[in-house]
Amino acid sequence: MKPGFVVFPSPQGVLISQEIIESLAHQEHVIIFCGHYEGIDERFIEKYVDLEISIGDCVLTGGEIPAMLMIDSMSRLVPGVVGKSKAVVEDSFYRGMLDNPNYTRPASWEGLEVPEVLLSGNEREISRWRRREAVTRTLTRRPDLISRASVRDYISEGISLAVIVDDEEANLSGVSDLCRAYDLGRLFIVARTRELREAMKKKYPEAKILARVESDSALVVKLFAEARENSLHSLEIKRKCLEHEGKILLVLAQDERALERLDGVSGYLYERDINVPLNIQVGIALDRLLGKR
Ligand code: SAM
Repeated sequence: MKPGFVVFPSPQGVLISQEIIESLAHQEHVIIFCGHYEGIDERFIEKYVDLEISIGDCVLTGGEIPAMLMIDSMSRLVPGVVGKSKAVVEDSFYRGMLDNPNYTRPASWEGLEVPEVLLSGNEREISRWRRREAVTRTLTRRPDLISRASVRDYISEGISLAVIVDDEEANLSGVSDLCRAYDLGRLFIVARTRELREAMKKKYPEAKILARVESDSALVVKLFAEARENSLHSLEIKRKCLEHEGKILLVLAQDERALERLDGVSGYLYERDINVPLNIQVGIALDRLLGKR
């Protein structure tokens, strides 16, 4: 039996990331072998090493510094190592986003001021500022991070979900649970006829039943299963949601022609419709846009 998860720091390994560090931190026992000179005999690597990790495209003289880097980064995830556990969550990369800029005392230093909002004592405004700064930084400095970032906590205001249905066959089972999981509030079900609204009310009592899509000045994001003209890749939609200052309403439909009649931005989930039930489609859309990485 192997005594633990064996790591070999190597310039030929997978590039280190916060996700790799989090996975290592979940191992009960991690063993790191450090190479020197040409490295370690390939037979040993084949037989014992679980993962080769590179710390970047440069060559060091030995694996000790990469090992220290891994140990330090893993240690921060052990409860109690960093005094304020909230600080770990807010650091760069934890949710896949960069951190906001940080300031300390004094308020004025060498002619440079701390942003006024940070001195206001208004917690709501401060957290709003921090969130916007983190979003702007990530979008401008590291847009590549967005695809795998957990952005739910960075959306500026509320985000809700509406589903347009055409008949009672529309499968929305579990969708209200998804709304709860992603903190979207009550699911809106939109049905044009009164009979269908009554039927939906009975079938999904926890949802709010509406006769039309009420955007309430929100940015309406129409989500199609399949790519079509002027529709954006879901990653671009994720960016738009992050950039938008204000409410967002995500809309999917049993019959996608209903989406065409709405104003808003269009996004798609697949190059080709994979033809899955509506509730699964909703799950895929939410995971794409808001899913925890
Ligand atoms: N011959 C190896 C190659 O070209 O792939 C380089 C060997 S390097 C001089 C010696 C040791 O330093 C490696 O075995 C590894 O343990 C460590 N090392 C060097 N660069 C590294 C990097 N970018 N990431 C992780 N470990 C590294």
